[in-house]
Amino acid sequence: MMGNTEAVTREEFTCDKAPNFWSDPRSKSVWHTPRPSVVIGDLPPSTEVTSSFHGGSCHSCFPDKQSHSINNNKQIFILGDEFLPPKIGARGRCCPVMRVHQGSFDQHKQVLLFHLRGKLRIRDGSILVIMLTSHLMKVGFHKYQSEFKSFASWARCLMPSIIVMPSIAPFNTGHDLAHLISVSHLFHSLQGEFLGKGPVDNDMSYVLWRPLY
Ligand SMILES: [Zn+2]
Repeated sequence: MMGNTEAVTREEFTCDKAPNFWSDPRSKSVWHTPRPSVVIGDLPPSTEVTSSFHGGSCHSCFPDKQSHSINNNKQIFILGDEFLPPKIGARGRCCPVMRVHQGSFDQHKQVLLFHLRGKLRIRDGSILVIMLTSHLMKVGFHKYQSEFKSFASWARCLMPSIIVMPSIAPFNTGHDLAHLISVSHLFHSLQGEFLGKGPVDNDMSYVLWRPLY
């Protein structure tokens, strides 16, 4: 599981505790593929994708299908997979969500480029939150982290004033230990990044390190 080796081979990978990509009825009310005549980069036509927005507008968060632009303001975009619901928020107060079934970083790049070549504009100061849980479980933490860094550099080259950050989506119980280890590793790596950044400037600031007398 170390280095750039995948945790399991793609052929062996199963994640039978993952939610069904289409089980949430809202997945039918968001933009999705496969659909005839839509080609996303060099992804196979069978690639399963949903996005709560299309053409720079969100069409999915009002009950009466009213749409609102997501191009004019900073947004928190969430890029994920079947572990995320197809939309988050309602009535114009939403986070645009883009999902690829068991999606990899490369697939997400291609879907994002597809939307950017259309009418989507991502404003400066927007945030891309990345939660590719299934991919993390498939490739293991080390490869995931390396791919995340490369994805973040690519995105910042394209849009220098955005923030790209990793996160972990909620997941259900019952996953294989190998999968949970990858999630735990990412979780602790995220925790570790923020340790040591508190208002402590020397060892003696810690209570237990102070001389008792
Ligand atoms: Zn919306």
